[in-house]
Amino acid sequence: MTETKVESWLTPRPNEIRVLHVEDNEMDAELVAQALRKGGFSFTAVVVQTEAEFERELRLQNPDVVIADYNLPQWKGMDALDVLRREGLEIPLILVSGALGDVTAVECIKRGATDYVLKDGLARLPEAVRRALEGERLLRMRRQAEAELAGKVKELARSNAELEQFAYIASHDLQEPLRMVAAYTQLLGERYRGRLDEDADKFIGYACEGALRMQTLIQDLLAFSRAGRSDACVRVDCKTVMNEVLLSLGPAIKESGATVTFTELPEVWADRSQITQVLQNLIGNAIKFRGKEAPVISVQAEKEGEHWLFNVSDNGIGISPEHAENIFVVFQRLHTRTEYAGNGIGLAICKKIVEHCGGKIWVEAQPDHGSVFKFTLPCEHHGEKRVAAAGAGG
Ligand code: ADP
Repeated sequence: MTETKVESWLTPRPNEIRVLHVEDNEMDAELVAQALRKGGFSFTAVVVQTEAEFERELRLQNPDVVIADYNLPQWKGMDALDVLRREGLEIPLILVSGALGDVTAVECIKRGATDYVLKDGLARLPEAVRRALEGERLLRMRRQAEAELAGKVKELARSNAELEQFAYIASHDLQEPLRMVAAYTQLLGERYRGRLDEDADKFIGYACEGALRMQTLIQDLLAFSRAGRSDACVRVDCKTVMNEVLLSLGPAIKESGATVTFTELPEVWADRSQITQVLQNLIGNAIKFRGKEAPVISVQAEKEGEHWLFNVSDNGIGISPEHAENIFVVFQRLHTRTEYAGNGIGLAICKKIVEHCGGKIWVEAQPDHGSVFKFTLPCEHHGEKRVAAAGAGG
């Protein structure tokens, strides 16, 4: 066994690379060094022969590149790759070999070698090293960018959760003092009506109205901040849900003379009460924003890849395409409350619920030509928490 020659590491100068060379033949090691020098590299190199030496030098130093002879008497150059993996290092490894068939070369690259160079073609080595180092630099940059992005996503999720919590607490805690204001202004109105002057009656009336309106807004905000929070996803039969929605909207359907039809509806993974709320808000709106004709509403669903695509269409007043997005924003409405009752929270709640389930919601509409609200829900469960299927019936 030849005595191992380990060159001492020099502190690398700037722009100097560190090479860890797995090679048992001194002459071959020198040829590799010459090729690198010729190729314009400034480098420090250490040559090792055995796995133990390789491991030791790897830990002692931090090589930029490993150059390994494919065939060593006691060891294989490719085994160096296993050591790199074991150590969790992503240092590029270039194989140097007397002869390496195409199949073996491809196999080595598949196993993780960065490149291979034949001993009688060492002129190609500098280019191979340059490319390996550039690849490594790009990989490091990508990893860094990915880590930064993951950090930002986490931070965004945290601040979103905090904001939701804030909206929830604020709306929840505001309810009590507001209840006092509403109750006492009402009492004031009842007890002192006609006993002060006309202006006083009017002002108390405005205060009552304002307090009641604020109560509704706060309740809506609370409903919005609760929407989409649930993780209680189960298999829900939308046909059963639709029957429940029709029952609870019964009076409005009767009063408006609406016809509501629905085709075969699927089972979806969702929170049952929330999906009920989505369909109820959409059908409720289709009745509320009716035109001159009695409302004709149809609910359909079809499978599109990984999703169910739901359509809720009506023959109502329609919507200008320029408002197609902002109607899904909290408290955004296109009409005054005297024209159509409401606070502009219904669609925002639908959007939050659908997106929480992993779907999307949008509208396709034209003024006076009815509206088609579309939303998707994944066929399979979207989150991690999978609750046993509930007996949805139907
Ligand atoms: P609200 O019904 O309380 O106004 P929504 O968030 O449910 O609040 O709806 C927001 C706005 O979107 C409505 O004010 C209305 O202008 C419009 N809109 C919703 N559904 C329909 C529909 N089916 N047809 C026409 N306009 C609609």
